[in-house]
This record gives sequence, structure tokens and C-alpha cells, in this order.
Amino acid sequence: MGEPGMTPSPTGGLAFGDTSQVPAEARLECKICWWVYDPAEGDSVWQVAPGTPFAALPPHWRCPQCDAEASKFLLLPD
Ligand SMILES: [Zn+2]
Repeated sequence: MGEPGMTPSPTGGLAFGDTSQVPAEARLECKICWWVYDPAEGDSVWQVAPGTPFAALPPHWRCPQCDAEASKFLLLPD
């Protein structure tokens, strides 16, 4: 039932509140459109190279599908 460090926040936003705390290999899902950022693939829309952790995305990065801010993304369990 849940894993350490993955408790959903009461406000429904990013559990971490700070992307620098997102694990480097973690995938995150846009809670608006369900698009998934996979660090192994990067993001061709924003020209993010494969292997780029979510925490290393540029500050202006947004969901390539619905333009949601990075703070709208939720950590996906493995
Ligand atoms: Zn989205």
C-alpha cells in the first residue's frame, strides 16, 4: 500500500513540490492529459535528449501535449 516517499500530496499536486527531489530514473505522468515523460526517451518536442531526468528539464519545460507546467506531473510507480 504505497511506497516510501510517494505519498500523494493533499492538494493533488506533485508529491514532491520540488522536481529536484524526483528520482533520476522516474517517469512522470501529466495529470491533465496523461502524457508520460520517460527519462530514457527524453522529449523530442522540447528537444530533450534521452537520459535526461525530469529534475534536469529546463525550467520553462511544459507538457508537450497540453502545455501543463511541470508541477502538474505526478510520479508514476514502476
Ligand atoms: Zn499534459
